[in-house]
Amino acid sequence: MVDLLLKDYVDRRALERIQLERLRNTLERVYANVPFYKKSFDEHGVKPSDLKCLADLSKFPFTMKQDLRDNYPFGLLACPKKDVVRIHASSGTTGKPTVVCYTRTDLEIWSETLCRTLQMGGLTENDIVQVGYGYGLFTGGLGAHYGAERLGCSVVPAGGGNTEKQLMLIRDFGVTAVCCTPSFFIHMIEEADKLGIDFRDTKLRHGFFGAEPWTVQMREYIESRTGIQAHDIFGLSEIMGPGVSADCECHCGLHVFEDHYYPEIIDPETGEVKGPGEEGELVFTHLTKEALPLIRYRTRDISSLTYEKCACGRTLVRMSKVSRRSDDMLIIRGVNLFPGQVESVLLSISGVAPHYQLVVTRTKAMDELEIKVEVTPDMFSDAVGQIEQLRNLISTKVKQMIGINAKITLVEPGAIERFDGKSKRVIDLRKK
Ligand SMILES: [Zn+2]
Repeated sequence: MVDLLLKDYVDRRALERIQLERLRNTLERVYANVPFYKKSFDEHGVKPSDLKCLADLSKFPFTMKQDLRDNYPFGLLACPKKDVVRIHASSGTTGKPTVVCYTRTDLEIWSETLCRTLQMGGLTENDIVQVGYGYGLFTGGLGAHYGAERLGCSVVPAGGGNTEKQLMLIRDFGVTAVCCTPSFFIHMIEEADKLGIDFRDTKLRHGFFGAEPWTVQMREYIESRTGIQAHDIFGLSEIMGPGVSADCECHCGLHVFEDHYYPEIIDPETGEVKGPGEEGELVFTHLTKEALPLIRYRTRDISSLTYEKCACGRTLVRMSKVSRRSDDMLIIRGVNLFPGQVESVLLSISGVAPHYQLVVTRTKAMDELEIKVEVTPDMFSDAVGQIEQLRNLISTKVKQMIGINAKITLVEPGAIERFDGKSKRVIDLRKK
């Protein structure tokens, strides 16, 4: 495992040489083997040989999710179909799913980056890892599974759902780390409360949470409620699945495994590349993917990059924690709003549980935002006066932070739907 660890501390100049060579190879391969890229590069008047340095990548066109859909299912394959050993797909909210393919080498690299993710969080072969992501077409389950096995951990393939059984396994098997969505873990915390299980009495020490945006406040909530270390793990199936980047013990951004996935930040409106520290849309280019390499894939996730050396000593670039996606942006009465902003406000207030939903409606051309939020059981049993005070406090803080007068509806514990996978926080009834 030492050889893998070293990759996170590589000299940046050496890394950039490797990146440039791999990028050139990838561009040449897609241009020669994928008709979509041949056409797209030709239309933009660029050739793989135009790439003389890493910055030249900005001359190449973007790839969008729609391009994957248009080429459903195997139109973007860059290798012979017989070399594909795994096919995953992400569920499309409308129409066909987005299909991704892997060769044997792709799967090895995926396991490697996931293994580095878990190592970064402090796991070793002595750990018992429970995978609470869904197994199946979704990349979460199998991705985390093979990464943990590669590290030599004992893997418990629990899959999503079945909260009570998950808790039983954590306790009985002496599970030391879980991988799941943050919203599912919040649900586990709540179930544990009901069953009288204190996480501090179990061996659980680490949680690797991803597959949906979550805030720093949510991390603090999870850590203070359970005593575990909550790690952020980022990924998307189009690029590989979980383990494209992960945070280290410093929790000050996520190190991108940039020897395989080359990141850029762009202005989502103009497409221009932004500088270090500037916020924008995260874009990835595959450097080593064989089956389905993507060039400048637009993730819709909002982040920024910093190349300053991390206190942990790793040299890999860090991306800021993704707590919002440009797809999730709501425009309410002309004001831009992300669900993560509401989450930050809510979790900074005591008496509020981390379960909320935003409902947007339109009456007579006027947008209305209702924030439904659960109160804690303690608060719920308190006097009506306190509930009213809490409602006013939330209303004031939301107004201060976001600039919108929202209707705050406090609901009893358990009233908002729970999720064993990705959560659904927004109900936008204007689109009907
Ligand atoms: Zn670090």
